[in-house]
Amino acid sequence: MEYRLLGQTGLEVSVIGLGCNNFGGMIESLDLEGARKVVHAALDAGITLFDTSDSYGTDGGSEKALGEILGPRRHDIVLATKFASPLNPEKSSRFNASRAYIMKAVEDSLRRLKTTYIDLYQYHFPDPMTPMEETLRALDDLVRQGKVRYIGCSNFSAWQIIDADWISRHYGLHRFQTIQAEYSLLSRQAATELFPAMRRIGMTLLPYFPLASGLLTGKYRKGKPIPQGTRMSLPYFKPGLNEANLERVEKLIAFAEARGHTILELAIGWLLSQPIVTSVLIGATKPEQVQANVRSMGWRLTAEEMAELEKI
Ligand code: NAP
Repeated sequence: MEYRLLGQTGLEVSVIGLGCNNFGGMIESLDLEGARKVVHAALDAGITLFDTSDSYGTDGGSEKALGEILGPRRHDIVLATKFASPLNPEKSSRFNASRAYIMKAVEDSLRRLKTTYIDLYQYHFPDPMTPMEETLRALDDLVRQGKVRYIGCSNFSAWQIIDADWISRHYGLHRFQTIQAEYSLLSRQAATELFPAMRRIGMTLLPYFPLASGLLTGKYRKGKPIPQGTRMSLPYFKPGLNEANLERVEKLIAFAEARGHTILELAIGWLLSQPIVTSVLIGATKPEQVQANVRSMGWRLTAEEMAELEKI
């Protein structure tokens, strides 16, 4: 395993992180035993970053599963979770980052995760109603209280991270160190405006959907039946298997194979060849997937290869 620093902190994390949104009954509903196998495969492979959210699974199901499975091994890893997304959208659909909401949300997450501290507490989606200063002051208090070690954000635009960073610096508050954004060979928009803003303030990226929900593993091929029991066979995800994406996947497979690699090695290697990326967050439904993903992390692309990929 290889490790990189998180944002401008002294905290090292594995370059492959385990995404835990499959745990606890939401997207692909892994039961506790299924989640246990995946978590243990990750620990055995040297993965130290585990990413979840209070909103993953039913009633905090992903956090509960992680708390249950990790036990004392919690202290061997870097635990990242998120707040602000509605837990029960039928009751309230508000994205909430008010002080009152955060103070309760953090206690609930700590209880579910069976821990006294969260390593990286991330603001999941921007709440347009709460002033950024209020959120940052509440988060700063949590860091000072020792309940949270570092803070990050997710799904923010370029202007929002610059605004937040200015407020933190102006008032001497802890700053967001990382951002989560969708970023993969099939979804590269973040590079246009977000990356220059991140470089300006020293934030690093935790890319999500790095395998485009499995499209970049090579198991979905043009003209071939969709493998059953996979994420892309679910109605919500199926539109991603469109002509344009499948064409691009075929071109990416050809690019990788011409250089003696797989598309999985290309998908992960392309991300890790960019210094702005700290750790690639990958979800898994089986331990073998975790092992395959870790085995596929070694390719560092040349500048020429990166430039060629711009055209695909
Ligand atoms: P992903 O990594 O692109 O796709 C994961 C899915 O691909 C797995 O569930 C598995 O599904 C399949 N897969 C993984 N490895 C494979 C392999 N080696 N071979 C074949 N199939 C493989 O997307 P993701 O897991 O949804 O996203 C990663 C993480 O990012 C999440 O878990 C979460 O922690 C985070 N995230 C954050 C946000 C945010 O708003 N901040 C949003 C989304 C996700 P099947 O087995 O069903 O095919």
